[in-house]
Amino acid sequence: MTEANPSVHAGGAVRFTCTTTSTGRARLGRLETPHGVIDTPQFMPVGTQATVKSLSPGDLRVAGTQIILGNTYHLALRPGHERIARLGGLHRFMGWDGPILTDSGGFQVFSLAHLRTVDDDGVTFASHLDGSPLRFTPERVMEIQAALGSDIAMAFDQLVDPAGPSAAVEAAMERTHAWAERCLASRTRSDQALFGIVQGGTDDKLRRRSTAAIAALPFDGIAIGGLSVGEPKADMARTLEVVGDALADDPRVRYLMGVGSPLDFFTAVERGVDLFDCVLPTRVARNGQVWTSRGRLNLRNARFLDDAGPVDPACSCETCSTHSRAYLAHLFRADELLAYRLASLHNVTYTLDVMRRIRQALRDGTFASLRDVVARQYEAVGGTDKPGVTGR
Ligand SMILES: [Zn+2]
Repeated sequence: MTEANPSVHAGGAVRFTCTTTSTGRARLGRLETPHGVIDTPQFMPVGTQATVKSLSPGDLRVAGTQIILGNTYHLALRPGHERIARLGGLHRFMGWDGPILTDSGGFQVFSLAHLRTVDDDGVTFASHLDGSPLRFTPERVMEIQAALGSDIAMAFDQLVDPAGPSAAVEAAMERTHAWAERCLASRTRSDQALFGIVQGGTDDKLRRRSTAAIAALPFDGIAIGGLSVGEPKADMARTLEVVGDALADDPRVRYLMGVGSPLDFFTAVERGVDLFDCVLPTRVARNGQVWTSRGRLNLRNARFLDDAGPVDPACSCETCSTHSRAYLAHLFRADELLAYRLASLHNVTYTLDVMRRIRQALRDGTFASLRDVVARQYEAVGGTDKPGVTGR
């Protein structure tokens, strides 16, 4: 059940309208961007190298995708943002005319690049492709995202291990705040929104400080970074609670970076999160793991070689309406390329469908019972005849 009086936040490039619900801090919203409207809560499939691996833009549309994410770090290194700009921008380059969010490269610089040196001005690092020396500063990252032409750009942030020394977590947070202001100062496009990123590890005091600092700046949306990097689930839930309380009724859209597990969606949505992204659904699909209403199945398992049933009888995607588990089990064993597409198409469809059902449950006031249903499905290892894992 939703309450009246939607809150509205209109920035230069996006407009976010949301209503509170009877479920904790959960909101139901609508984010209008230059390339289309996004219903929230929403999940963004990740198109790292200007492609969601193995899926065409047509596949993504049919799966129900409303917005995708592109990786600034990867695209700047290859094929190069200037080249993409010459070719008409990222939307035209990849043939996706819907909304695109680009990350700032912060996560990749700190997880992929070699030989990094961080100073207050930026980061010097060696490309993971060929070792060539590169430098990212807040201004440079804004220039790259402007060239890509995404609907939503992200501020450049510094990530550190939340389990590391608290002085290091605090220093990275302070640097992230200073870089946030420089990103805002170097905006050049009025048709591109800019989101700030809250850091501070899993330290409640630092998270409160970071939320206050980022929320005080004129960003179009607020992202929560530095989570889903291996910390205990309870730490993530508590940190989201702290950030949600600190943001209170801030009307801007909230985005939890790097989370794509269905159970984590519930934890975050009831703490006020509106947007998610993650490579998880497509990465596990390429390894043969599909998420279904009958549990998680590993299609590489020999038990599926004679299974004539669909991957998920409750799913209407092309994979489930056309092919058998036996066929996919064969494709994976034969290392056939179609296996990646069919499994990815199903997992993206499943993930976006969980989001659609979350939105419906928020409208109906049935969020808690939906969480129980999805938890039973997701936690079950399918194909082991576990009782109580049928239907949806
Ligand atoms: Zn399916």
